[in-house]
Amino acid sequence: MIELTAAQENVRVRALRFSEERLAPRAADRDRVGEFAAEDLKALGRAGLLTVNVPVAHGGLGAGVVSYVEAVRALAQGCAGTAVGMMVTNMVAEAISHFGTPEQRARHLRPLCAGEWPAAAFCLSEPESGSDAASMRATATREGDRYRLNGVKAWITSGGEAGVYLVTAKTDPAARAKGVTAFLVPAGAPGLSASPPEKKLGLRSSVTTQVVLEDCLVPASERLGEEGEGFKVMMSSLDGGRVGVSAQAVGVADAALAHLRAAYERAPTAELADALARSQAERDAAWLLCLRAARLKDAGETLTQQASISKLYCTEMAGRVCQRALRAQGAAGHAALGGVERLMRDARVMRIYEGTSEIQRLVIAREALRAGARGA
Ligand SMILES: Cc1cc2nc3c(=O)[nH]c(=O)nc-3n(C[C@H](O)[C@H](O)[C@H](O)COP(=O)(O)OP(=O)(O)OC[C@H]3O[C@@H](n4cnc5c(N)ncnc54)[C@H](O)[C@@H]3O)c2cc1C
Repeated sequence: MIELTAAQENVRVRALRFSEERLAPRAADRDRVGEFAAEDLKALGRAGLLTVNVPVAHGGLGAGVVSYVEAVRALAQGCAGTAVGMMVTNMVAEAISHFGTPEQRARHLRPLCAGEWPAAAFCLSEPESGSDAASMRATATREGDRYRLNGVKAWITSGGEAGVYLVTAKTDPAARAKGVTAFLVPAGAPGLSASPPEKKLGLRSSVTTQVVLEDCLVPASERLGEEGEGFKVMMSSLDGGRVGVSAQAVGVADAALAHLRAAYERAPTAELADALARSQAERDAAWLLCLRAARLKDAGETLTQQASISKLYCTEMAGRVCQRALRAQGAAGHAALGGVERLMRDARVMRIYEGTSEIQRLVIAREALRAGARGA
């Protein structure tokens, strides 16, 4: 659709091969038993595909955001649950690369880039604070050259499996966003633990847990950025994260489209032609929005609104395409065989995490007003 550079094409082809050979054949079984693909994620790390958008100077692949979305799309076609582990890891790795000290990069980025750890975790949400993340209750109290962290983080992707946790807590509990500070907490740190995995509708090969902080002592050298900068760290990560979720949704739509094409080949009815044509057109429009946001990020431009437009459209599109593919299969689509019904379950959560569709609409509308005020 849009020509890739040789380097971008190389990432796309390698990710697609990995997805077809290692992820797709096991995706239905992993969904059924809720198996986390630790070894596959480490293999992705060794291939540079866990840290596609981390600069080479910091140990990553340095292949840029267009390459990253191509990789996510390819992996999500095979197994969207494994893809989300890769996406969150890349997001945390980018934050460490951007905001971290050389010592933090050596401690946490190097093992991620080398595939020694299967994942990194991004700990923002709490049981009582999701969309309104600034209302978080976790606290970090300074005690000399360390901080004491207490609180509960909720719905954490790769909880209990990650090598490092990017955690936010309030150093100024009376303040909202400006009171939030970010920390890097290694797995196994005393006082950090993960709950048993949540039972989920979809993405069952991704482990999601609470991460509990009980008098967890973190050296001040593990603070990521300055005190009060934690919200900035997390929100700048989420702009890029939303582009990743967009690509994940397009990957799932691509897998559903294959089922729709097969249904139309079997029964070339006008109804199936209509479903296939609508789905293909919407999928292509979605992918263009995703690529636009990816290119903006590659160019170092602001992408808040474009990332939200992309995420909103791509994730809602994936839901519609999966529904049509399910309908095209009749009763077979309803059978719990890990086929289209898995894709539909996997796609649903993409409208929730990294900001729900309602929150994306608020961001888009807010940015539209700002652009209007600038006369843009
Ligand atoms: C599988 C999975 C993996 C996740 N992984 C992570 C992770 O790795 N790290 C992490 O930090 N979090 C993670 N999350 C949490 C996710 O980001 C939150 O669930 C999401 O932000 C929504 O928050 P909430 O669930 O508290 O819903 P709420 O914020 O309580 O929202 C409930 C409903 O109200 C609507 N709503 C809320 N506020 C408004 C508003 N102002 N205007 C209009 N409508 C509104 C929402 O759109 C939603 O429909 C994950 C969630 C899931 C399900």
